Amino acid sequence: MKREESDPVVAIDGPAGSGKSTTARALAKSLDWTYLDTGAIYRTLGWLAVREGVSLDDENSLVALCPRLETLSFRWGEDGSLRVFLGDVDVTRAIRGEEAGRWASDVSRHPGVRQALLDLQRSFTRKGPLIAEGRDTGTVVFPKARWKFFLTASLEERARRRLREMGLEETPQSLETIKRAIRERDLQDSTRTVAPLMKARDAIEVDTTGLSPEEVVEFIRRLMKEG
Ligand code: C5P
Repeated sequence: MKREESDPVVAIDGPAGSGKSTTARALAKSLDWTYLDTGAIYRTLGWLAVREGVSLDDENSLVALCPRLETLSFRWGEDGSLRVFLGDVDVTRAIRGEEAGRWASDVSRHPGVRQALLDLQRSFTRKGPLIAEGRDTGTVVFPKARWKFFLTASLEERARRRLREMGLEETPQSLETIKRAIRERDLQDSTRTVAPLMKARDAIEVDTTGLSPEEVVEFIRRLMKEG
């Protein structure tokens, strides 16, 4: 899988709940590589837009907000969790829920917004080898990434993981609600015209259904060593 003139980047893409965040974070920590959560960039933009009263349909105004994301940073908390900062403001909680996911999906539909955020995402490679996760890191942001993975999992399992991640109790109703939200976001992400969610031709698909986070990381590390 090693490519000629490839970049020292691991691109991990996939839909919500496929296990990409858990996997990417564990890999970044264990290898001590830089970590880039591209979804957090779109989430923060969505949050900023809502806070500033900018319509999520107004592409030009959203693009005008993009330079403010240059102060975005990721820091590991003392408990090992990841904190997202915009300048000095810890936005981690504000951007996590399914509502912020929907805002992110809305702002990320706009070609101008995606273009405006490309350099910011690529600038993370200046800090050293990178683990990047998102929807289009292997297809658009880092097409020359040395390793590319596309994670999937059944809808049922993805919904359970999202509920756990958000600290919500699993009931038949909460499960149904989250499944509906995931389905809608998947549909919007995979049918948009720019950088739709899809597997890069040269990415390895990993179905994480029934696998523990440790098993997924182990599997990926093995493939990285081979290639
Ligand atoms: O991965 P996460 O759930 O945080 O992403 C939130 C939303 O941001 C996605 O549903 C998608 O619409 C958008 N996104 C994107 N491209 C990326 C990462 C996220 O369009 N590389």
